[in-house]
Amino acid sequence: CAVQHAFLFADPAAHSRSPEMHRAAFAHAGISGEYTARRVPPAELPAAVVGLRQPGVLGANLSLPHKTAALSLLDDLTPAARAIGAVNTVIHRGGRLTGDNTDAPGLLAALADVDAPTGGLSVVLGAGGAARAAVYALVSAGHTVMIVNRTHARAQALAAELGGRAAWPETVPWSAVTLLVNASSAGLDAPDESPLSPFVPLEARAVVYDMVYRPAETRLMREARAAGLRAENGLGMLAHQARLAFRAWTGADVPVGVFLGALAGGRMPQPEG
Ligand code: NDP
Repeated sequence: CAVQHAFLFADPAAHSRSPEMHRAAFAHAGISGEYTARRVPPAELPAAVVGLRQPGVLGANLSLPHKTAALSLLDDLTPAARAIGAVNTVIHRGGRLTGDNTDAPGLLAALADVDAPTGGLSVVLGAGGAARAAVYALVSAGHTVMIVNRTHARAQALAAELGGRAAWPETVPWSAVTLLVNASSAGLDAPDESPLSPFVPLEARAVVYDMVYRPAETRLMREARAAGLRAENGLGMLAHQARLAFRAWTGADVPVGVFLGALAGGRMPQPEG
């Protein structure tokens, strides 16, 4: 049958790992499909989105700087995309475009893969786009969430909108924290930078989840492991958000290992928050 197309719109787009993941998924699912990463400058996003309404187009992933700008260009938004205020996946059906956000369920799936504690006290570091997805996901999964951000006012605004409570590092009861999610960009390409410096001990079974995945072991992860805690980088979330987008486009439930395998197959991934 006819080749189906999916795209990434981002600026820059050249270093994205999404093409490798989705090509591996097409091959695994036996679907004749193509995935193309296109550099789309902000001014060209409206025209690029119109192009998604063509027959044979499954949809697109959106990355920086388009996740928020796309909100007003689509016909429908899922509750998650609307609440988070960001679209990372556009789904095309019969000329209509729906905006979804698979970062939030992608994070929850990645946490489930490592048996991260649920329902306890969770701290999210950061207050940008990734933190919005993390807070939405954790609050909806029943976690008690505290948000710590370098610029405290942004943490307060996020909590007022999506739930959770803004906190200063000094006011977090760290020894009771069972999940720490770094959703800030501290540590990205900076092996000696940590969003929690000095590191503080957490609850003994706590998991530290760093959404940063380059380097593969951040300083936050290193210090958590040295303190005897489990620590994971953001590759699992990256793979799961891709898996969920692929399923929304095609209906095919390709195992996350296919996406992780594609990520492991080449050079280290580039960030694509
Ligand atoms: P934003 O630019 O929207 O937000 C960045 C956040 O990081 C802000 O809260 C900022 O604080 C904080 N920050 C930046 N530098 C520092 C620092 N040196 N110390 C403390 N805080 C700092 O970025 P995104 O939310 O889009 O992305 C954040 C990270 O998450 C990126 O590394 C991205 O690659 C990653 N990501 C990973 C995904 C995955 O699938 N694994 C998905 C999406 C994102 P302030 O408000 O004070 O400026």
